[in-house]
Amino acid sequence: MTAPTEAPALRSVEETIAAILAAIPGPLPAEAVSPERALGRYLAAAAVSRTDLPPWDNSAMDGYAVRAHDTTEASAASPVTLRVIGEVRAGESSALAVGQGTALRIATGAPLPPGADAVVPVELTIPLDSSGRDVGPAGRDATGPLPAGVRVQEPVPAGGAVRAQGSDLRAGDTVLAPGSAMTPAAVALAAGAGLGEVAVHRRPLVAVLATGDEIRAAGLPLGPAGIPDANGPGLRALVAAAGANPLDLGIARDRLDDVESRLAGAIPEADVVIVSGGVSVGPYDVVRSAFQAVGRVDLWRVAVQPGKPFAFGVAERAGGMDAGGRGDDALPPVLLFGLPGNPVSTAVTFELFVKPALRKLSGGPAMEHADDRGVLTEPVTKSRGRRAYIRVVADRDSDGRVRRDGSGRVSLRLAGGQSSHVLSALAAADALAVVPEGVDGLDVGAEVAIHWLGRG
Ligand code: AMP
Ligand code: MG
Repeated sequence: MTAPTEAPALRSVEETIAAILAAIPGPLPAEAVSPERALGRYLAAAAVSRTDLPPWDNSAMDGYAVRAHDTTEASAASPVTLRVIGEVRAGESSALAVGQGTALRIATGAPLPPGADAVVPVELTIPLDSSGRDVGPAGRDATGPLPAGVRVQEPVPAGGAVRAQGSDLRAGDTVLAPGSAMTPAAVALAAGAGLGEVAVHRRPLVAVLATGDEIRAAGLPLGPAGIPDANGPGLRALVAAAGANPLDLGIARDRLDDVESRLAGAIPEADVVIVSGGVSVGPYDVVRSAFQAVGRVDLWRVAVQPGKPFAFGVAERAGGMDAGGRGDDALPPVLLFGLPGNPVSTAVTFELFVKPALRKLSGGPAMEHADDRGVLTEPVTKSRGRRAYIRVVADRDSDGRVRRDGSGRVSLRLAGGQSSHVLSALAAADALAVVPEGVDGLDVGAEVAIHWLGRG
C-alpha cells in the first residue's frame, strides 16, 4: 500500500504527453544537408526550386523532331516524307534547326531543337535511304544508322510527345513547405529541383543509460544474480528507428554518484537522456535524485499499464553549446526521461511518451496514436484506473496480410503473457490494444483502439 504522501492523483496519458510537449519550446536547430542525407527528417525551411523542370522543352519519346504543321496531311496510305538532317542525343543540344520538310532524329530526354514543335514517335515512321527507298520497317530501332529521310504515317499535334519546359516545376516554386517529411519521393523532388542541400532540423542526440546492480552487458556471464541488459540495446534501437541518434552511456550501478556522473557527462551534448530502471521509490532507486541533481523532475506517476512509475524532467544545457557548436539560446532544454526497468514497460513508455517528444524536437507533425480499431478474440484483465496497452497479434491471411472484418476492424489475440517483464510477447506483438481506464477487463468481442508497433 502506498503512503498518502506518495499517492497524488495519477496523470492521464494525454496529460502526460501534453506536459512533455509543453516542455519543448520548439524543434532543434536546422542544418543544411544533401537531400539524400535528409531522408526521414523534417524541413526547417521551404525547399525552393532552383530550376524549371524540365529545364528545357524535351522529347518524351525516341523519334523525330518535326514541325507539326508538316505532318498535317500524313496517313498510312499517303505518308509525308521528311529529310533527316541530323540527330540530337540526350545530353546534347542541337546547333541545327528543323526547317520546313526536315526532321532531326531525337532521343527521349534530348532538348527539342530550334524550329521543331513536336516529336513523331519512331513507331509512326519508316526510315528511308538517300534515294527515298525504305531501309527498314516502321519503328525501326531509333539508335541504328541515321536514315537519310523518314516517312511519317500519322499527323502529330503541336507539342505532341514534347515535355514542355517548366511543366513539372518552375524555378522559384516552393516545392516542399517547412515541416515536410523528407520521404524518398521528397528526396527525389528536392534533388530534381536542383537543390544540393536542404535545411532540415538536426536529429536529436539521445543518450541511453541502463541502471541496476543486476544488469550485465548482453553476452557477458550473468553469475548467480545477473540479468542481461535488454533495455540499453532495445532503447537505442527504438531511438534509431525513430530517426534520432543514440548515444550509449553504458550500465550504471544503483548508486547516485554513478548515475549522476554519467548524466552530467552526457548533458552538454545530448538533447534527450533516457534512463531505464531505478525510478521507483525503493531504497536503491536513485534516478529521481540524479535527475534532481542535474535538472528538474516534472512529473512522476502516470495512469498507464505497463509504465508506472515514469519520470520526466528537463535540464538546462550546461555547456551552452550543442553538438553542432551553436549557442544555447536556440536550443530546447535537455529532456530527461526515467522509464521503468521492466523491458515491456520501457518499450511502451518509449512509444507513448518519448517518441512524440523526439518528433517535436525533429520538427515533425504531432504523432497520431491508436488510430485503428480491432476486436478482441480473447478476454483481457487489467487494473481499474489505468489505461492498459495490451500486447496483441493481428489475425492474418496465408500471405501475411492483416485480415479485417466488414467494418474494417482487425481481429486480435494476445501475443503472450501480459506481465511487464515478458519480452517474448512484446517481440511477438504487432500492436498495442488500448483498454480504457474505467474498466477492469474486456470480454471477447470487445472493440479496442490499436496502436501499431513498428510503423514509423
Ligand atoms: P527497476 O525499474 O529498476 O525496479 O527494474 C524493474 C525490473 O526490470 C527488474 O526486474 C529489473 O531487473 C528489470 N530491468 C531493469 N533494467 C533492465 C535492463 N536494462 N534490462 C533488462 N531488465 C531490466
Ligand atoms: Mg533497478
